[in-house]
Amino acid sequence: MEWDVSFETKCQGMDLSIQDQYHAISFPIYQTATFSRRYLGEQSGFDYTRQSNPTRSQLESVVASLENAHNAIAFASGMAAVTAVMSLFDPGDNIIVDIDLYGGSVRLFDTVCKRYGVEFRTADCSSEDITGYIDDRTKAVYLETPTNPMMHVTDIAKTAELLKSRGILLIVDNTFLSPYLQNPLDLGADIVVHSGTKYIGGHHDTIGGFVVLNDEETAEKIRLILTTTGAGLPPFDSWLILRGIRTLAVRMDRAESNARIIAEHLTHSEHVTKVIYPGLPEHRGHDIMKKQARGFGAMITFEVESKEFAKEVLNNVELFYFAESLGGTETLITYPITQTHAAVPKELLERNGINDRLLRLSVGIEGADDLIAEIDRVFDIASKGK
Ligand SMILES: *Cc1c(COP(=O)(O)O)cnc(C)c1O
Repeated sequence: MEWDVSFETKCQGMDLSIQDQYHAISFPIYQTATFSRRYLGEQSGFDYTRQSNPTRSQLESVVASLENAHNAIAFASGMAAVTAVMSLFDPGDNIIVDIDLYGGSVRLFDTVCKRYGVEFRTADCSSEDITGYIDDRTKAVYLETPTNPMMHVTDIAKTAELLKSRGILLIVDNTFLSPYLQNPLDLGADIVVHSGTKYIGGHHDTIGGFVVLNDEETAEKIRLILTTTGAGLPPFDSWLILRGIRTLAVRMDRAESNARIIAEHLTHSEHVTKVIYPGLPEHRGHDIMKKQARGFGAMITFEVESKEFAKEVLNNVELFYFAESLGGTETLITYPITQTHAAVPKELLERNGINDRLLRLSVGIEGADDLIAEIDRVFDIASKGK
């Protein structure tokens, strides 16, 4: 559905074509497996929750509007969403995938999709000319921008332009920025995937995922996969994410403003050897992001002086949580090499510069002064401990 209002207003929106009879402001949780009919031939619009459910449909409408798209389909996780997209392809097809991706996506391609005869070609989409990887069985390019965790930035419009005339799909995982900061479909991408677990849900309290697209025929295929495999987002989780979306814009604003302050602060630390944040003017992707996104997000990757220092930081955080995941209201610190990227082959990690001194912050919405004080405190402990 398209609502011709600002993003902030869309976050408060409701699809009135899916409304409960009492017009509740908080859309109800339809915790039911099945829906009855009063007579043969009656259509209520809903039959069985594996196929569709009003709470899930309401969420899908809202998410579609946030990406300015005709269709959003809600899955039980981001990985279920990516898996559904991958089932569009046939044995013998090949897909160009970016070198730096969420570790779970790499594992899905390597351990599941390959066995179904789909070939994956790894390229650095942010800096390489990918035409050399294309042949007549190339069906899609799959990328994130900025990437997890190395923050490579790919020009979405330029890549889409290159692929369009060749009939190759551009699939963008937009998890890191959320629809508030970037809308890849508007830039020419064909399919957007999201881990709804992250910014869209925003509270580290549920798992979910989305496939968002305009093309009706492909959307029908994805819906058929959801119904057939039973990968749909359950009603309660749909409700949690609907509630999370209410504050998406304000959460992103605060998290990003905190992230800018922290990134700047980290660049001044003698213990930090590298700060990778696209909001810093020296970042390679800074200008592309200024063109294609409305902000730089709240994910910061940084490298510290030694593995021991990284370990001391992780072992001593108090305000930050040492945890995987991102995009919630609390600040999380992650060690990609043993957490999010543990499943990525060693040579790929090395090629990407993911080493044992690398830490990743998902900056939350706490007071910026407290976050800075936490960094100074743990750095102080870590520098004494070494
Ligand atoms: C977390 C994440 C996923 C997977 O989503 P889940 O909800 O954990 O299944 C995919 N892509 C990115 C960029 C992620 O951060």
